[in-house]
Formats: sequence, C-alpha cells, structure tokens
Amino acid sequence: MDDLNKTLRDIQDYLSPELDGWEQMIYHYVFRHTILEGIDTITVPARSVGPKIGKGRDGASELARNNIPRKLRTLEQKGAIKILGKTTNGTKVQIVLPRDIPGLIRQPAEAAVVDMETIDFFSSSENRSRIFERDARKCCYCLKSVENEGATLDHIISQGDGGNHSYNNLVTACFECNSRKHSRGVSFPRNFVFQEVGINSTDWKEKRCSRYRKWTARRSSRN
Ligand SMILES: [Zn+2]
Repeated sequence: MDDLNKTLRDIQDYLSPELDGWEQMIYHYVFRHTILEGIDTITVPARSVGPKIGKGRDGASELARNNIPRKLRTLEQKGAIKILGKTTNGTKVQIVLPRDIPGLIRQPAEAAVVDMETIDFFSSSENRSRIFERDARKCCYCLKSVENEGATLDHIISQGDGGNHSYNNLVTACFECNSRKHSRGVSFPRNFVFQEVGINSTDWKEKRCSRYRKWTARRSSRN
C-alpha cells in the first residue's frame, strides 16, 4: 500500500508534468489495467479507448482514434511505456513506473550542512539582526523589549574565555544588562531558544554548563 501511495505520488509529482493531457489519460488507463491488475503488459485497443476517455460529460472532443498510436509513441519516447508490438487487437505495451524512468525522479540535493559555529553573527549588521529577530527583540536577561538602538549582542561565553561570534554564543541584551553582566562576571540568558535548523542545543548547553561550573568554582574559591 505504501508502495502504491508512493507510486501515485510519483506519477503526479514527477511524471505528469512531463506529459500532455492525452498522454496522462493514456498512462492512467494503462496503469489501471496493468499495475492495479497485478500485471505489467496490456494491449491498448485503439478502437475502444478513444470513446472511453477524454470525452467528459459535456461531449468534448474525444481522443481521436488515430491519435492513440501517436500518443503511445510519444509516451514511449518519454520512457513511460515500452511498445512491445502490434496485434490485430491493438498495441501491446508494458508500463514503466516513474521510479524506473531514468532521470525522472530528482533526488533533493543534500541539504547543505551549515556549521553555525563558523559563521560570524557579530560583525555584520545583517547577521546581528538575525539574532535580534530570533530573540524577538527582547533582552534575554531581563526580558525587556529593546529597540535596535538599545539592543546589544552579548557573548554568553565571553571572548576572553574563548567564546566566538557564533549564533549559539550570542544573545540579545539590553545595554543595562550587558553592562551589569560585565561587572558581575556571568549571567545566563532566560529566554534563549533554538529556533533554527542547525543549532546543536546539546552542545550549547554543555558549553553553558561548563561555563557555569567554572564560574561556581571561581566563586567558591574566593569564599
Ligand atoms: Zn536587560
């Protein structure tokens, strides 16, 4: 059943755009009388197919009898059927499923793997804006809304501690929180969310935790 579902989707998504209306009708006719009957060849009767398909309730012009052999040939040229021969009853054809038509189904390009750690989100205003947008233009520490002029980017792991300008290491902060953080040592953002594909939140949390451990170790050594 899954296979039939997939085949029907492939016909609609990949094959139909390659066929004209008549070719689609004949292909569906052949599909009905082969795959759905558990066989793969059929003799397409030139005489009777015409009146049966393409006419519609309003009596639109039906597929003319002499068009059928022509459309069978163009279907073969497009790889959708193989013509096996002619008999007195019609044309014997073998259906070719979309997955077996060379080059028809294009595999989606491998999604480009973007290493967010290597992209600088600090230096260009366009990338800075992406961080502000991700954080809904709210300070990640006090949750106050910040306008562009008042918004700063804060390095969660400071540059002095090896933090970079990456997406995972930057959060929106208001000027006050950013300044206060410098005087206090460290703060942890409260509404940091991993919204975009490519964020390794486990990795980020690990960094955040190791930073926290360092901070608590320093604090307890002072006490
Ligand atoms: Zn703030």
